Amino acid sequence: MDRGVTVASSVIYRFQLRPGDHIYSWRKRAGYLYAHHGIYESDQKVIQYCSAVEDGPLFASSSPTRPCRECAEAERKGGVVISCLDCFLEGGNLCLFAYSVPLWFYTASNIGHQLTCHTAREDPPEEVLRRANDLSGAYSAGFVSSKYNALTNNCVDFAFYCKTGCRFATYAVGQVVSEVGPVVAQGASVLVHSGCVCM
Ligand SMILES: [Zn+2]
Repeated sequence: MDRGVTVASSVIYRFQLRPGDHIYSWRKRAGYLYAHHGIYESDQKVIQYCSAVEDGPLFASSSPTRPCRECAEAERKGGVVISCLDCFLEGGNLCLFAYSVPLWFYTASNIGHQLTCHTAREDPPEEVLRRANDLSGAYSAGFVSSKYNALTNNCVDFAFYCKTGCRFATYAVGQVVSEVGPVVAQGASVLVHSGCVCM
């Protein structure tokens, strides 16, 4: 599997990072553990979709332990922002979200309600980064057609779109990949195939 990712662990080292990687790290808010996802750009920078601080403490991205003022300011209003890797990880492990995994691997890995890998095929890194950068700074327009929602319009949805050109909604049980409709770039041509909406 890609860079040694297994069902038991998707932790990788920083030196293993490649531009366009979909990465994630576990975060804890108000006793709730969740994975925060982003797209690694380069030079220790991560493009991520985060909620605004005022959306509430559970999924707010700012942390009282965050060391970097620039990142805290960038993330304050939410949306697609660029952060440094340290702030993205918040001291947690660096995990790689693997693509093109076999169905048995997908089923064994995605227990519970948090996705950690997918059977979908990833696009070349330059295409991934183009999508991520095109959406950088977006909130009320473009990708983020509605406000951040922990289940349907969130960080993993953003990263998955950047990697594949497709969108999906995550559900609390079963990890059913479902079509949620086009959201990016009004006026873009939309093709529907393989059970998802691609652009
Ligand atoms: Zn930072």
